Amino acid sequence: MAEYIWLDGYTPSASLRSKTKILEEGVVDLKGVEDWGFDGSSTNQAEGKSSDCLLKPVRIVPDPIRGTPHLLVLCEVFNADGTPHISNSRARLRVVAERYAAAESWFGMEQEYTLFKGAKPLAWPDEGTPGPQGPYYCGVGADKIFGRPLIEAHLSACLEAGLTISGINSEVMPGQWEFQVGPLDPLAVGDEMWLSRWLLQRLGEDFGTTVSFSPKPVLGDWNGAGCHTNFSTKEMRLPGGIRAVEEACEKLSLKHAEHIAVYGAGNEERLTGKHETCSIKEFRYGVSDRGASIRIPIFTNKNGCGYLEDRRPAANMDPYQVAARLIETVCGY
Ligand code: ADP
Ligand code: MN
Ligand code: MN
Ligand code: MN
Repeated sequence: MAEYIWLDGYTPSASLRSKTKILEEGVVDLKGVEDWGFDGSSTNQAEGKSSDCLLKPVRIVPDPIRGTPHLLVLCEVFNADGTPHISNSRARLRVVAERYAAAESWFGMEQEYTLFKGAKPLAWPDEGTPGPQGPYYCGVGADKIFGRPLIEAHLSACLEAGLTISGINSEVMPGQWEFQVGPLDPLAVGDEMWLSRWLLQRLGEDFGTTVSFSPKPVLGDWNGAGCHTNFSTKEMRLPGGIRAVEEACEKLSLKHAEHIAVYGAGNEERLTGKHETCSIKEFRYGVSDRGASIRIPIFTNKNGCGYLEDRRPAANMDPYQVAARLIETVCGY
């Protein structure tokens, strides 16, 4: 069984879709999987009268849910005439990543998300709200932690699929969690982000739990959900690279609006200047500053080389668009 996974054409935020294809036995890599099609009129990707869209497999991993020898097959979407579909942001990133390949950029993305049971966050009691934020971040105990069995199943599944997860933690708002993907090259980080998001939502089905990537799932004095994007080029990682990190921050300061435009829908609810964010109206960078748009990690400053953390992207961002934008601003301008 091969689960073909792709992004639909909904705006402003795409969702994941998938369906199963039965293959001959013995397929283990991309060479063995064929292109496939789907009804684009059911995913906002085509009109009913010419509804066929094409799925081209681009990354294949073992399916940790069905087990060996089953597969997950991430695909790009193409029009019937073979051109990339307008929703295919990976095709655009391919061009950018290729053009600036010499920079050897790496990305590490911190995916935050909030678990829901029906219309309410998993952590919410029948009446009222949980106690205020404080004890939940990296906490332990049934009064502080909500949804751990799903999170553990997800982490194991990602590792079995061979994804580069670098860690997980519970977050400041109860029932909010984070996993980190990377560091990886631009296409790989995007692919692994979408595959790990798919696994999380798919495993949530088994637990009766839905996953919200909303940047502000609950209004009020509750942290929003982001997707901090850690970024470096080869130059930044080499001795003395701190100069390149600072230059990158200066370039980013000139393109704030262009970045915000692809950093996720509804991000203005989250980037208020409170709850460890910088206001969406400002751009600031600083060492160790979790109230800045860009944080230079303390070790990068100490070692004189490393990476920067863009704290602006929202949890619902498209990693292909975020990676393309960062490379274009930092490497191309
Ligand atoms: P935070 O302190 O902001 O919570 P995390 O530990 O959650 O940081 O995430 C840091 C991320 O940065 C990880 O995904 C890690 O893989 C990534 N990372 C580490 N080194 C680099 C690098 N040189 N370039 C890009 N990303 C990196
Ligand atoms: Mn983190
Ligand atoms: Mn976090
Ligand atoms: Mn972070």
